[in-house]
Amino acid sequence: MSVPFDLPRTLSPSKVTSFRDCALAFRFNTIEHLPEEPKVWTVKGTLVHRVLEHLFWYHGQGERTPDAAAIELDRAWDALQSDPEYLALDLSPAEADDLRTEAAALISNYFALEDPNDITPIGIELLIEARLGGLRLRGIIDRLDLTPDGELVVIDYKTGRAPSPAFEQSKLIGVHIYALLCQEVLGRKPVQVKLLHLKEPTVITAEPSDQALRGQRVKTLAVWSAIERACAHEDFRPRTSPLCNYCRFRDFCPAYGGDPDQAALVLGADVGADLGAGVGASPGLEVGAEVGADLGGAA
Ligand code: SF4
Repeated sequence: MSVPFDLPRTLSPSKVTSFRDCALAFRFNTIEHLPEEPKVWTVKGTLVHRVLEHLFWYHGQGERTPDAAAIELDRAWDALQSDPEYLALDLSPAEADDLRTEAAALISNYFALEDPNDITPIGIELLIEARLGGLRLRGIIDRLDLTPDGELVVIDYKTGRAPSPAFEQSKLIGVHIYALLCQEVLGRKPVQVKLLHLKEPTVITAEPSDQALRGQRVKTLAVWSAIERACAHEDFRPRTSPLCNYCRFRDFCPAYGGDPDQAALVLGADVGADLGAGVGASPGLEVGAEVGADLGGAA
């Protein structure tokens, strides 16, 4: 007997991208919630995000120095030692040293991209949610800045490798959705969205036009309609691409001779669970928990 697929209660920018990349992988991840082993790179990314979050959260302009970041790395590293995901990695002392050294290098690279003392953030780890038709679209913006001219800039930190120019625009889809969220919730569009790639380091910048945001709205709603259809018909099709080389579901993918219905049995499923927070509250919009300063100044 087939298992009915519940619609996800919310969509984030990464889920939108995930469905566009491959509907079947989306089903495994977002509909069936097949458990995933913690990865060094995700733990490292979380650590670096935490350090940069605290650099802005606890240090005012003029005090956001590499030394201050080093102090925040010490604190975040100490806190990480009791984190279940970190503990599950079961790293040797040498591997743990490598993780910390690589995180420190990414944070050092951050200072090559911008001077944090020149920046006025009005949101740090900003949870933002809007309703688009029947869709609850939500995301967490790493940083929302206010320029000296009173304009908004969306910042997204990236700790992985920057995409090649051919994939640059597709990687900007997520930040365009953040721009759309700003427009829907705050009533104004950011003048820029920036991906700060800390590894290279390099910055990818886009300036969303009104037309681009209207297009993004249409595309996002089209993805939601496609998800509704896929859930209703239990029809999530594989879409092969170079991403298959990194896909943890490849053994269960019909494009590679696998049986998708075996994935839940082998990996363990939690069908129907929804990891989206705030279930039931269902506000039309929600500007979240960690707004760093008065958004009124930006409105
Ligand atoms: S192997 Fe490729 S086509 Fe199959 S589920 Fe994974 S990403 Fe999709």
